[in-house]
Amino acid sequence: MNVQIPRGTQDILPEQARLWQWIENKVKEVTKKYRYEEIRTPIFEHTEIFARGVGDTTDIVQKEMYSFQDRGGRDLTLRPEGTASVVRSFVENKMFGYPNQPIKLYYMGPMFRYERPQSGRYRQFVQFGVEALGSADPAIDAEVIALAMDIYKSVGLKNLNLVINSLGDKESRLEHREALINHFKPRIGEFCKDCQSRLEKNPLRILDCKVDRDHELMETAPSILDYLNDDSKEYFAKVQQYLDGLGIEYTVDSTLVRGLDYYNQTTFEIMSSAPGFGAITTLCGGGRYNGLVEEFGGPETPGIGFALSIERLIAAMEAENVQVDFDDQLDFYIVALGDAAKDYSVKLLADLRNNGFTADRDYQDRKMKAQMKSANRLNANYVVIIGEDELEKGEVQVKNMQSGEQEEVKLSEFIDVVKQWFN
Ligand code: ATP
Ligand code: MG
Repeated sequence: MNVQIPRGTQDILPEQARLWQWIENKVKEVTKKYRYEEIRTPIFEHTEIFARGVGDTTDIVQKEMYSFQDRGGRDLTLRPEGTASVVRSFVENKMFGYPNQPIKLYYMGPMFRYERPQSGRYRQFVQFGVEALGSADPAIDAEVIALAMDIYKSVGLKNLNLVINSLGDKESRLEHREALINHFKPRIGEFCKDCQSRLEKNPLRILDCKVDRDHELMETAPSILDYLNDDSKEYFAKVQQYLDGLGIEYTVDSTLVRGLDYYNQTTFEIMSSAPGFGAITTLCGGGRYNGLVEEFGGPETPGIGFALSIERLIAAMEAENVQVDFDDQLDFYIVALGDAAKDYSVKLLADLRNNGFTADRDYQDRKMKAQMKSANRLNANYVVIIGEDELEKGEVQVKNMQSGEQEEVKLSEFIDVVKQWFN
């Protein structure tokens, strides 16, 4: 039997899970302020959903999907990202007919990509993402970007770089596409196989190639910003105006692209600029996609969203050495000595828990000293000591672990008394 964890996956052990829960809570708090609501879609979908929704010229679809046939012969894929599933669900459930538009959704859960594992790159990782469907107002672009920035700030990150770009509308993109083809075609033989096949299918993706990123033609490639028509220029200017108004700093990078045909107007990435951060510095990527809903058979509906992984967020927190104050106190630890006391502690423990306290006890039959040590390790605020004598007198000793003070409390009044301490 192979008892090792699969490559590119990780166990989140309790100590680390505390941090995860803390982050998840922060993320949800921020998201709630912006009134994005949670959607939960299946972990697997028909493969076609991703082939079409993510696009078959992308790395994800060409190389990274965990696809399989189920026993009924269906082609299924473990989701590599969230947008395609959300849009599938939006169309299937006719959310375009809901009264409150735009529909503002978020998701959080595991994604699966067959990648070469390295730091910040896993085969199973957790993405949080939002999608706002149904509005083409540049103010919602700014809202989505602000939300992403707020999430990073809420977990204490400071070294962030926001980079934005515009891909323009369909018309602008078509002209830019021609210019790109003319630019790369004469020397496309010097590029990787993927880029060669991208040239006609989706030349924009060449700009995003990780293999050929240092080729001299990359730098001289025609900039999309020179091809924006008036509408697209105005749209991009509005987004920037809103970001300025919100005091959100950014740089414009005309090489920031999203590969898919229906991505348009705003795209953005958030990078960590923390000195200790590894080679992969992108924390979050997002953009506007007008046309994806139609691709899935829905009515023309503009959309914008982003996705970030919790793993890279944690890596950034580590690089910035962010200290987190967890609430990891235990209200009560019961030290019971002798059989009768141990029997009694079963009931006392339940009473404490039923009254809203966190409480635990020894189950290893250890001596007093060892039990006190456990109480310390578990950050207990109070230790309740029950011995045979005390039990006979109908009382317990309660030790305040911070002050070291100890007092007797009548069992009949125990819950009422301790409740006052926590008031
Ligand atoms: P990259 O260029 O790093 O491969 P990507 O373009 O594939 O990223 P997206 O599909 O835009 O990434 O996903 C959004 C975010 O999800 C990324 O910015 C990153 O934070 C995170 N992410 C993507 N792939 C992984 C992975 N394999 N492991 C951990 N996080 C990931
Ligand atoms: Mg990738």
